[in-house]
Amino acid sequence: MTSVWPAPTTISGYGFASKACVPVVAPETVQELEAVLACAKREGTSIGLRGAGRSYGDAALNSRGIVLDLRRLNRIRAANWDTGVLQVEPGVTIEQLWREGLPHGYWPAVVPGTMFPTIGGCAAMNVHGKNNFKAGTVGDHISEFELLTATGERLLCSRTQNADIFRGAIGGFGMLGAFTSLTLHMKSVPTGDLMVTPLPTTSIGAMTALLEQRAAESDYMVGWVDMLGSGAGLVHLARYCTSEESDPDASLRAAHQDLPGRLFGLVPKSWMWPGLWCALNKPGMHAVNRMKLWSGARHARAGAQRNSLVGFSFLLDYVPNWRKAYLPGGFLQYQSFVPRAAAAAVFEEQRRLARRAGVQPFLGVMKRHRPDEFLLTHALDGFSLALDFPLSARRSLKLRQLATELNACVLDAGGRFYPAKDSLMDASVMARYVPKDSMERFLALKQRLDPQRRFCTDFSGRTIEALLER
Ligand SMILES: Cc1cc2nc3c(=O)[nH]c(=O)nc-3n(C[C@H](O)[C@H](O)[C@H](O)COP(=O)(O)OP(=O)(O)OC[C@H]3O[C@@H](n4cnc5c(N)ncnc54)[C@H](O)[C@@H]3O)c2cc1C
Repeated sequence: MTSVWPAPTTISGYGFASKACVPVVAPETVQELEAVLACAKREGTSIGLRGAGRSYGDAALNSRGIVLDLRRLNRIRAANWDTGVLQVEPGVTIEQLWREGLPHGYWPAVVPGTMFPTIGGCAAMNVHGKNNFKAGTVGDHISEFELLTATGERLLCSRTQNADIFRGAIGGFGMLGAFTSLTLHMKSVPTGDLMVTPLPTTSIGAMTALLEQRAAESDYMVGWVDMLGSGAGLVHLARYCTSEESDPDASLRAAHQDLPGRLFGLVPKSWMWPGLWCALNKPGMHAVNRMKLWSGARHARAGAQRNSLVGFSFLLDYVPNWRKAYLPGGFLQYQSFVPRAAAAAVFEEQRRLARRAGVQPFLGVMKRHRPDEFLLTHALDGFSLALDFPLSARRSLKLRQLATELNACVLDAGGRFYPAKDSLMDASVMARYVPKDSMERFLALKQRLDPQRRFCTDFSGRTIEALLER
């Protein structure tokens, strides 16, 4: 029998470790999206929604049905440059937002560490940036959206209309329906530059203390931790430049923001990931980390430096295809969020457990967070530590065992996890970290809006679908 869907293609999570070979359909208009949904209902096919596929694990994969790639729904429908309020389709990217906004003095209020995700994917994960402690998550800057539900209804949702769906769908990883348009509030910025101060730290505890002390005077904060060594690291604090410190006319131009095509003006950036690939082993990363600590200390002595908003925000985009350096096994990111008082002890214990297990992460990144109103949010009053673990057949099993131990420390401390970065959690972990009342409200919304479970992904299969069975 012939299928109504296109031939399957293989797609993966950003870390390469999760894959699915499925039909991928890419509608260009909301009407086409509605037609695909109607067809899926007739055929009894499940739908996994996908933006730019920048989630590290399996949150934008659906091995059991089809995947809807929403990147072609990428029109900015309305923009008011007096207020910075935009109505956009879900496939509009963070890059589109800053390119449109900056010449008018507006920057996306919350950005992840890369400019390529779509706003639909960011809202579905409720992403945070290096300013989470101050600006909240992306959902805090969305005032309204339209959601296409499994029954074919188009619901307008805001804090006053369908407010329960508003709080469930933001951070609801595509389980309640597809965003078809979103109203966003951009941030007015005086210039296109930040003043960035690097500060070395001697331990994980020293880093949490520093981030705590310097939050009031900073707009952005991020810390890199040497997880292979003693836990020493480097914090970057940043604040918006005043118009005396940077020329607004020049710095708000895209040409000022564009990332350089060559490293040190010489090496093409496309050559960088193979170089990184050679260093991605324990001795290589030890050496890289020691160099980073040494150059960090040097920069710290030089004091604050100006950097463009794009240069500071999207550091990883400097190296195109950097993830290929983790091939052939790929990598897994593990990010845990821990309440303020317990964070340093939990992260220190994670470092100890990883060292004992012999599966140490090559990268550790710390951020400060604040809570928000969304039902399944990962955000809390505390800190997160994101760890990148290289994968191989030998390491996978060890890592799975290690994750159970790392999870236990986080859950015992009242911490949380983040679906965009997850590859390993199961329903029991999710049931423990999401407050009971929030989980019950979310599951009730799922039953009401999508009783046939049309919207599902590989991530939902190992988490909330099991909870719906209970
Ligand atoms: C280099 C890098 C750095 C990152 N840094 C950060 C960071 O600092 N902070 C952070 O929070 N995250 C970060 N991330 C994670 C990333 O921001 C999120 O995974 C984000 O969701 C990716 O958006 P996307 O468009 O790629 O969505 P996808 O990954 O394709 O999808 C994400 C989720 O959204 C759902 N979805 C997609 N479109 C829609 C829609 N229209 N309606 C409803 N649901 C939809 C999908 O089903 C899926 O569950 C980073 C990722 C990378 C690769």
